[in-house]
Amino acid sequence: MVDRRYTDPPEKCAVFFRLALTFMTRQAAGVHPISYAVWYEYVAGTNTSLKAEIDDLTRDSGKLDEETTCRLYEKHIAEVDPESMSRLGDNLRRVITEVSSSTTEVNNEAGLYGDKLQAVGTRLESSEVALPEFKDIVKDTFMDTVRMRDTVSSVQQRLQSSQSEIDELRQELARVKEESLVDSLTGLLNRRAFDLRIGELFDAADGRGETFSIIVVDIDHFKRINDGYGHLFGDRVIRAVGSALKAGVKGKDFVGRYGGEEFAILLPATHLKGAWAVAEGVRRLVAGSRIRRLNNDEVVGNITVSAGVATHRAGEAIQSVFERADAALYRAKNGGRNRVETAE
Ligand code: GH3
Ligand code: MG
Ligand code: MG
Repeated sequence: MVDRRYTDPPEKCAVFFRLALTFMTRQAAGVHPISYAVWYEYVAGTNTSLKAEIDDLTRDSGKLDEETTCRLYEKHIAEVDPESMSRLGDNLRRVITEVSSSTTEVNNEAGLYGDKLQAVGTRLESSEVALPEFKDIVKDTFMDTVRMRDTVSSVQQRLQSSQSEIDELRQELARVKEESLVDSLTGLLNRRAFDLRIGELFDAADGRGETFSIIVVDIDHFKRINDGYGHLFGDRVIRAVGSALKAGVKGKDFVGRYGGEEFAILLPATHLKGAWAVAEGVRRLVAGSRIRRLNNDEVVGNITVSAGVATHRAGEAIQSVFERADAALYRAKNGGRNRVETAE
């Protein structure tokens, strides 16, 4: 049975495939399965040590050669236990077990120590304790106290090291989150993934004379939704709008959550007229949707979006296409919202 090292759903794999391909073809190494594994794991963001080393190696626009690529594969992929994907969870479980067993240990020792002290107290209260016995009692009590102190200090050390492991895990979680390509609220591409994808399209547009369009979408009066119904409902609205955007585009198009209540859609090989039609379709889809509140069955309508559309011109910088789309969105807002404007 083959270990399922890669458990991402097919759509996500397809995104990783394109991203990995872009990176892979920029290197000096051959385009073969070993390179692909290296770059797939790099873009998937799960192999943090691999990613850190590649980032180091390529910082000054260095390219990976054949030998380095194979070495990275050996070091970070071939030798990594397949279970390493779940190591975060395992580590956390281990730390928790350690902390709880340390606490139990201290409790048990403290209980025994208390019992002994009590017995000593009772013995001392009786009048016939002779000096030699008294000396023994003091010696025993001293030894017990030393043992108790050692237990406490060893547990203290273990708890301290658990604490630093917890800190490391926390940092690793933050890194994994940062390296992720998916927005956790909507499941859409996050801004980072979206920017990577745009970079690719931009290269393609430059190299092959292709064009692409961008639609920026912003939920209308979202502050009012948050203020009127609360942030949790606001989040539901963001998710619902995200789904509507996804439903309104074709498979080759990309939808990303660009910021709080802002989205961007990337339409490869699409001219302004086609892009406008997509934006208009999406706008209608959202305006026609009804979102139910969780606790009561109240249905909230009137949720709308405005959109700005721009098509990339030959030689134009990415920044500039975005600015033109943003300016169009601004006009859509000023023109009354729930509408689509195209850039000049
Ligand atoms: P406009 O029609 O001009 O776009 O008005 P607006 O109220 O939508 O615009 P504005 O940009 O002023 O407000 C956006 C609000 O979105 C502000 C912020 O509190 C809220 N917001 C941003 N991110 C999130 C999020 O992830 N969840 C929720 N619930 N609210 C968010
Ligand atoms: Mg906004
Ligand atoms: Mg808004």
